[in-house]
Amino acid sequence: MAQDRPKLTVDIIRKLPKVDLHRHLDGSVRVETVVELAEEQGVCLPTNDLEELRALIEVDNDCESLVEYLRGFTIVNSVAQKPYALTRMFFEACEDAVADGLRYVEIRFAPILHVNELMSLTQVMEAVCEGKAMAEYHLPITARIILCGMRHMPPETTMSVAELAWRYRNRGVVAFDLAGPESGFASSKHKAAFELVRKQMLKMTVHSGEAAGAESILDAIRYCGAHRIGHGTTLGDSPELLAYVVNRGIPLEVCPTSNLQTKAVSALADHPLKSYLEANVCVTINTDNPRISGVTLSDELMVCHTELGMDLAQIVRIIDNGFSATFLERGTKKRMRAEALYQTVSILRSEGFDVSPIVNDPHYYSAAVNFHKSLQDPYWGTASQPAISRDLVAALPKIDAHRRVAGSASLDVVWKHFADAVTDDSCPVTAAAVLGLDPPQDAPATWLPDRAVFDALVESSDTHTPGSTSVAKRVFNLALQTRDAIADSVADIFASAAADNYLYIELVLEPSFHTGRGLTMAHIVDATLDAIASASESTGVLAGLVLAVSVSPATLCDPLVFREIAELAVARKGPVSGVGALAPSTSPLKTTATTRPPLTFSRTLPCRSSSPPVRSRPRPSSLRSLTAAPTASPAASRFTRSRSCSTTSPTSASRSSSASPTSSSSTPQTPTCSPRRRSSSSSTTRSPSRSAPSAPPCTPPSSWTRSLTLSSAQTSTSRTCSSSLPAASMPSLPRTT
Ligand SMILES: [Zn+2]
Repeated sequence: MAQDRPKLTVDIIRKLPKVDLHRHLDGSVRVETVVELAEEQGVCLPTNDLEELRALIEVDNDCESLVEYLRGFTIVNSVAQKPYALTRMFFEACEDAVADGLRYVEIRFAPILHVNELMSLTQVMEAVCEGKAMAEYHLPITARIILCGMRHMPPETTMSVAELAWRYRNRGVVAFDLAGPESGFASSKHKAAFELVRKQMLKMTVHSGEAAGAESILDAIRYCGAHRIGHGTTLGDSPELLAYVVNRGIPLEVCPTSNLQTKAVSALADHPLKSYLEANVCVTINTDNPRISGVTLSDELMVCHTELGMDLAQIVRIIDNGFSATFLERGTKKRMRAEALYQTVSILRSEGFDVSPIVNDPHYYSAAVNFHKSLQDPYWGTASQPAISRDLVAALPKIDAHRRVAGSASLDVVWKHFADAVTDDSCPVTAAAVLGLDPPQDAPATWLPDRAVFDALVESSDTHTPGSTSVAKRVFNLALQTRDAIADSVADIFASAAADNYLYIELVLEPSFHTGRGLTMAHIVDATLDAIASASESTGVLAGLVLAVSVSPATLCDPLVFREIAELAVARKGPVSGVGALAPSTSPLKTTATTRPPLTFSRTLPCRSSSPPVRSRPRPSSLRSLTAAPTASPAASRFTRSRSCSTTSPTSASRSSSASPTSSSSTPQTPTCSPRRRSSSSSTTRSPSRSAPSAPPCTPPSSWTRSLTLSSAQTSTSRTCSSSLPAASMPSLPRTT
């Protein structure tokens, strides 16, 4: 019967395990303690009467101004300038937390506010850490510390607090925060401090969206890299930002009563936290300053129930969100969350509540709680398990978050497009040169090896050396330069993923890898996206696309490529799911790593020379015209590959054994011509870092351009700039976070 249903009360909520992630130390001091500390230290308070002092420190929901709200802090901090006082304050704050059913608390404070009487920052920290250690020893609670910088203080001061956070990382400091007046004091001013904290792997939270709009939250995320948002009341002003916060799982530390008292909201019933929760924001409920506001965490949760109409399942959800959002180490966090959830359900069940909406909520699957058994029971039976087979693994649904477009297509696809490429008239390189093979005597320039030889060179399950990997990369590089090749590759990748029961794959595309035949990076990206859309629809495999840049010393020289990739990604945000950097090959090609002569696909590629053998087909006239073109800029020529020309003289042909690929550091105006390699005799003289000083000028083929050279630089042992512009003309990108 309806009248028999239990009612949620503050006493029941108090029994539930909870966390408070946003609680200020100076807002948590008992009024009795303030009086005692003042007497001990000889501090003169506005009044020594306990109740009169309480009235001065605490505010109610009719608090009229921020000045009134902040009055209590001035009084409290007047007695918080001694180490023992800080220790006591922290311990008692934990004691109060335990009394309210908290299992975990993150207490924050601004060290700089406690050095008024010449206490050093180190003394402040030692005192607080002592209080934390005492609390954890004597009380059933886990406590952590968050240090606050102040928005209105100089960035140098904030930096000193950030350094303090790092120094005390092993004493319980888990995060860094920015507090203080929000309006007019942008968090971006302190981004250097947050950069330091981020580099030192600490967590970050920022008070934002309380006294300023959503742009303040955006700043906190964009410039400070906030892992959580303090308050975030105005998040809903920007639907796009709200979606971002949901997608990134950035929790909000909501403090309802504090928000009312500081006029961040006009009435508790108007607080947007419920709508945020229903929009899947990870909303957590906290107290901010329990002794100033005169509330407990249980009170705040009760307010959510009574004022905002949140039902039991929602109350449990925001409690669970708190456990999920702690700055604890991952393993501890998971265990604490699972235990709390189990106990919560047990308590509510014992109080007569219907807990089925909770235990059947898929949201809690990730907590791995067996609600029907003791936590100590093993989740899995002890019976021996059958062996795990490849077929079993193949049948399991999976995702692949890193699958490169170049390198994932089947050999059938690669062979097809490789053969198309090397038999193309304008292709500047032979199959033999790419594969490091010696073709038969008198073989035509379009000679192809047996398919089996090709397969063995390109695909190797476990015997790839740096050298053979390099050969495989060159093959893919040569093959995947057209829209058809990209479409075939993507289709092939999806077919393979579907056959292996992948539900989602995230393809990694390095656009500059595929621009060797005249397609721009934008063409490449769009062609890939089209192919993905088509393949995804036909196979049912979902996909994302990450645009990548190779972070090799060569490409690091080219901020323009970075920028262009970033712009392409932003313009296609959605279908393009991210931007990434690919690590360089750690092992440069070694001549001793393979029995085959090493190939260097650098500035000068092995070209099809006019002798020997001579191609029977006439050379495209475009090449001759380019040969004579004196207007080609030095910069542009650095992106071209030399090839043997119709004008190659016998002299240059006779140098074939010594004309090595030019280094990318060689003078760019005169790329040299390297006749086609015909025999292993050239292997003894190839040097990727030296050019033949007297080699004749050579022209680029009309359609084989930039990316082959770029990728060749990556596989080359020479570590030089492959930019399309002279290094001196490269703009340096502004540093951003
Ligand atoms: Zn706060």
